[in-house]
Amino acid sequence: ELKPLPDLTPQHRDLLDRVCVYVYETCHPPPTEYSYRDMILKDLESFIRQEFSGSHLCLFGSSMNGFGFKGSDLDICMTLEGHETSDDLDCIDIIERLAKLLKKHLDLYNILPITTAKVPIVKFVHRPSKLEGDISLYNILAQYNTRMLNMYAAMDERVRILGYTVKRFAKICEIGDASRGSLSSYAYILMLLYFLQQRKPPIIPVLQELHDGQPKPEKMVDGWNAWFYDDLKSLPKKWPHLGENKETVGELWIGLLRFYTEEFNFREHVICIRQSAILTRFEKMWTSKCIAIEDPFDLNHNLGAGVSRKMNNFIIGAFIKGRETFGMTLRSDLYHQYTPMPYIVDYLFDAE
Ligand code: ATP
Ligand code: MG
Repeated sequence: ELKPLPDLTPQHRDLLDRVCVYVYETCHPPPTEYSYRDMILKDLESFIRQEFSGSHLCLFGSSMNGFGFKGSDLDICMTLEGHETSDDLDCIDIIERLAKLLKKHLDLYNILPITTAKVPIVKFVHRPSKLEGDISLYNILAQYNTRMLNMYAAMDERVRILGYTVKRFAKICEIGDASRGSLSSYAYILMLLYFLQQRKPPIIPVLQELHDGQPKPEKMVDGWNAWFYDDLKSLPKKWPHLGENKETVGELWIGLLRFYTEEFNFREHVICIRQSAILTRFEKMWTSKCIAIEDPFDLNHNLGAGVSRKMNNFIIGAFIKGRETFGMTLRSDLYHQYTPMPYIVDYLFDAE
């Protein structure tokens, strides 16, 4: 039922390259926004210490993982000195007290404690910047996946550019909001990384496997081994294949859309970035859901668990449509050197 795609011509490939780079350049925050986010964090930390002495705040998520958009939310994790884990803490009580305290902060509004979710959080909006934020407690694994994603983003600029492209694609197609039954942007980044690891030759290694035949070092967090190879400087020596694959971002972008519509076996396999060997749903006993995306550290966590059959069809439909919009020969005026980039990008992404 998939329409055959023509071979990618050089001009088509160049256009796709320019589109991906343009999305990256218009979406990523300027360096000043990163320092601003740090400033907000430091201010909140000292404010919170009035009541919770020994508390630490730490940014994670897209503010730190190399795939942040301008104005994306502030994901903040709070820990307390003297407590390695949250086991001996009443998290719900802390979140409620935190919410009360934050209501006194003049720069914050819409303070909302959410204590019924799997991870209790308090949400807020920062008035001067209009940035939304949430504070969770002891979300340590999320800090590890943030650092690992950041390492993948840093090793090859194509990873970063494609990360923005896929997030933008998911937003425009309305398939990128886990709270509304689709997948989180984190899940799409995992899908991207899996594709780049499976590409031949691979663009990126499996960082959790780079331990040279030695037993995998142990870095236990919440009962899971959160170890991954994290020495960016020595990576080219450790993994000599870095840079071997010369495909352009445009080729890889259409490659990604084709991979998840033509090749990847959603029925049998799991999207899994912690090993290069294929992982089956059968092995995980994850056979009831439509999409299986394994969290790289919390191996019991399927990021596709909340996707209904109907939503799954909608997501796959968006990929099929994207495959055609980006993969079919485009209207000739789009290739013209002087056709404005915003016009091309709107055309391609809104054609969804
Ligand atoms: P953005 O906010 O730009 O859409 P994000 O990566 O910050 O992207 P959030 O939904 O804000 O996405 O999640 C923040 C972080 O929390 C993620 O980067 C990831 O580290 C962690 N996270 C989010 N959803 C999950 C999940 N379902 N399972 C495990 N960790 C998650
Ligand atoms: Mg976020």
